[in-house]
Amino acid sequence: MSIRKILIVAGLIAGICPAAGKLNVVTSTEDLAAIGREVGGDHVSIDSIAKGYQDPHFVEPKPSFLLKLQKADLLAVVGLQLEIGWLPPLITQSGNSKIQVGAKGYLDLSTASEVLELPTTTVTRADGDVHPLGNPHYWLDPENGRRIARSFKDRFSEMQPAEAAYFDQHLKDFENRLTENEKRWDAAMAPYKGRKVVTYHRSFPNFSKRFGLNVVDYVEPKPGIPPSPSHTLELINKMKQENIKLILVEPYFDMRTPDSVAQQVGGTALVLLPSVGGEKQVQTYFQLFDYDVNLLTSAFGKYK
Ligand SMILES: [Zn+2]
Repeated sequence: MSIRKILIVAGLIAGICPAAGKLNVVTSTEDLAAIGREVGGDHVSIDSIAKGYQDPHFVEPKPSFLLKLQKADLLAVVGLQLEIGWLPPLITQSGNSKIQVGAKGYLDLSTASEVLELPTTTVTRADGDVHPLGNPHYWLDPENGRRIARSFKDRFSEMQPAEAAYFDQHLKDFENRLTENEKRWDAAMAPYKGRKVVTYHRSFPNFSKRFGLNVVDYVEPKPGIPPSPSHTLELINKMKQENIKLILVEPYFDMRTPDSVAQQVGGTALVLLPSVGGEKQVQTYFQLFDYDVNLLTSAFGKYK
């Protein structure tokens, strides 16, 4: 073999091997990507489709999403129909048999999580309700973050058995740090237990249950349905009667209605982040709760 050939072969090996050793994971949202990275460390490469500043119910498909899906070994989704408006056709069009629903490379994290607001009657999307199977924003309880991380660990280990011990160690480390941070978040939120707030969309039931907020109403009349004049009027009356000052708005909604309602009740409309990536400085699962807990505690501090 000539030196030139040896160099070419060596170059190919160096180029291919590190990539071949890594699991190529695509997640629907940045929250799942952030948790997956905690567990996967250097042995997985994770990319999310939706950005944390976008409404995860309504993401505009792009050709680049297809490219990501075509190369994926594993696709992790929130499920409960959160992504139904945009992801299923992309999965089909990718032609990637590894990540089709039901395949080993398809992971629906809702199955491992505590899901709230389960429907008691039959709800269909025909009603315009985008939460027909229960509330899909479940990652906003750190306990569900822990469950999501464990699911990732199990699946990564199944797909890369040689690295099982590595994933196990990373999961333990994540859980330990989560436990430590939860103590801090709990302590910060404790003085405000039971505080009444309004949110734009039903994004925060798991967060509220975990940290003791009392969400009494929503700017949307129903999940996914824009504000209506009659509902907005009811909302203003309720907030006045119950002395509620805070409206929490996800970053992708128009502030006009929340601002106008807040003005009429002498309160404030604030942007609370439902996802990692909602602001540039929020890049990890821990930073998401840090950001939201800070925002809430300083807002609550202003209104006695
Ligand atoms: Zn929703």
